[in-house]
Amino acid sequence: MDYQHHWKDGTPIRLPLGKIVCVGRNYADHARELNNPVPDEPLLFIKPATSAVHLTRPIRLPANRGAVHFETELAVLIGRPLTDASASDAEAAILGYGLALDLTLRDLQSRLKAKGEPWERAKAFDGACPLSPFVAADQMPRNQLTFTLDIDQQRRQSGDTRDMLNPVTTLIAHMSSYFTLLPGDVILTGTPSGVGPLATGQTLSLELQQALFVETHVVSG
Ligand code: ZN
Repeated sequence: MDYQHHWKDGTPIRLPLGKIVCVGRNYADHARELNNPVPDEPLLFIKPATSAVHLTRPIRLPANRGAVHFETELAVLIGRPLTDASASDAEAAILGYGLALDLTLRDLQSRLKAKGEPWERAKAFDGACPLSPFVAADQMPRNQLTFTLDIDQQRRQSGDTRDMLNPVTTLIAHMSSYFTLLPGDVILTGTPSGVGPLATGQTLSLELQQALFVETHVVSG
């Protein structure tokens, strides 16, 4: 594993990635597109540090594992330890914002869900979390962030933090009541609608708030 956090100017961020804490169904329109109920409490799961890869490098699709779906998500880099944090503590602990793909083996996930089994194999495999460089939080607006994914120059996903069921700081505070968050940990905040399968040869262009632009390509594993 050779993943390391970076700022968007290429400077390394000297914090270890411990874990990536994620939320499912944080946008009602995405819950509906997969025919999932909107949960009354955030649905949390963790991707291990070994799932992280650089989004700026080509995405290698796992072979023979069925459909690999993209889910474009706002990624939050944590800068201070948080345990049972308040929303204002959570806000003060946000060091940077970036973008992530929460890659999901959708066929496998559907089989696991049908059997009531954990999702790990569908969500936590090696390479399952391409992460972009980060933009410093103090250079970004506090309450509203927007992001987009284009594939081969067609708009596929548009996210706006105002559409989240659980806003970023509330979500981080809630996560920290179960999992202590450490500097270098990353939060994925859920995907808006528009998810779909990746295919070899595609070009993905991601943009966050006119502040971060990343282009990447899908190659076969
Ligand atoms: Zn997701």
